[in-house]
Amino acid sequence: MATASAVSTLPEILGRYEPVIGLEVHAQLLTDSKMFCACSAAYIGSPPNSNTCPVCLGLPGVLPVINRRAVEYTVRTALALHCEIPEHSKFDRKNYFYPDLPKGYQISQWDMPMSRDGHLDLVAGGAAVRCGITRVHLEEDTGTLQHAGDILQQARSSVVDLNRAGVPLMEIVGEPDLRSPEQAREYLVRLRQILVYIGVNDGNLEQGSFRCDANISLRRRGGDALGTKVEIKNMNSFRAVQRALEFEIVRQGRLLDRGETIEQETRGWVEAKGATISQRSKEHAHDYRYFPEPDLPPLHLTSDLVERVRAGLPELPHQLQERLQREHGLSAYDAAVITAEREDATTFEALVAAGAPAKAAANWLMGDVARLARESGTSLGRSGLGVAGLAALIRLVEAGTVNGPTAKALLEELYASGGDPAALVGERGLAQVSDTAELERIVETVIAENPAAVADFRGGKEQALQRLVGGVMKATRGRADARAVNRLLRDRLAR
Ligand SMILES: [Zn+2]
Repeated sequence: MATASAVSTLPEILGRYEPVIGLEVHAQLLTDSKMFCACSAAYIGSPPNSNTCPVCLGLPGVLPVINRRAVEYTVRTALALHCEIPEHSKFDRKNYFYPDLPKGYQISQWDMPMSRDGHLDLVAGGAAVRCGITRVHLEEDTGTLQHAGDILQQARSSVVDLNRAGVPLMEIVGEPDLRSPEQAREYLVRLRQILVYIGVNDGNLEQGSFRCDANISLRRRGGDALGTKVEIKNMNSFRAVQRALEFEIVRQGRLLDRGETIEQETRGWVEAKGATISQRSKEHAHDYRYFPEPDLPPLHLTSDLVERVRAGLPELPHQLQERLQREHGLSAYDAAVITAEREDATTFEALVAAGAPAKAAANWLMGDVARLARESGTSLGRSGLGVAGLAALIRLVEAGTVNGPTAKALLEELYASGGDPAALVGERGLAQVSDTAELERIVETVIAENPAAVADFRGGKEQALQRLVGGVMKATRGRADARAVNRLLRDRLAR
């Protein structure tokens, strides 16, 4: 056996132990109203406690009403994840006291969820992985607390905002089928992508509309006894999930190496420390005392409804990726990058429909356009250039009207301030000079003016040619067809 050290690194620990990881995702649904009342579900930016009513304030004597759209969105999600939809399901009360949930219980689903037994396919480290989906069920979100002062020290006061209380929340429980932090990250990337594609969630990890908890345990490689699992919370980016899991593998591995036991507990990820800290041990685990929600009828999801939702499912990310490869000859890599965000894939198809060659459209989108969107914070669709403008610019390059460097310079300018690419090329005389007679004349002049470079090139210094090419480009204000210039210079100097 390898020497067990208290300071083993992540790779050393992964050599001895296999991580067993399962993820739980909470995703807010993009409905207009809350789960059980008519209050607006748009809680971000509203004045505190303005989107509330007796139902979501948990006042006595009120009755909840099920949001039909939220049920349909949950069915849509479950179908996209290949789940079965039982005809009968029900809501339950999950009892606990939190100051951000005034009813003293959360309406959720316990033993009869809306769906079960699905899966999600992903690729991590070049290997295909299928992760089971235990269930997708529907519940309601809690309110939010704000603390004045440091809650870990002595909070001076805390205030509650119940605008978020009662917002429809979907819980997606994954099977513990993931075996590395990288797989966990890919699972989340894929799941978020699917939810955004099917229009049920905005995928915003920072604002918490897409949140993840992770369960992780280690087992000795070659053995099949499962270790004690620890739950990790408070991760609000894909990177945080990966880092928290890596931290936890090292922490648990070192404890096991020393012969210590892992305590079953909930730990929180603290980004600033790059560490998880203990929040709640098993002795303090909640007994939620679930019981059927008496104020709501059981759900009866007919096969008609399920089939109607299935028929309305949009094209899923992996289907779109395969279609772009098949119809436009994109590589698997290009198709994956283009389909990462639905908007980019829509733009790509619009560019191709407007006459841009597929490979060129993909290159522009993944390269300079992606960079400009990132730097300016403005997507192509909202930029001055727009999708039609980019298509026009690509056509100018493909037709040989402008060269690559000119097109890139135009892209920068048009992205920021807008305009018609073809008109701008005409106005400024930016059209590429590929007229051989004109280029030959300029080549002669440049050769006459640069005897040293000519001598160097003829003496075997290949790089000297670039000085001459540079001279021609300068004389044409960057508009010359660089390939033609190279060819003309070589021909002329070979004489
Ligand atoms: Zn309400």
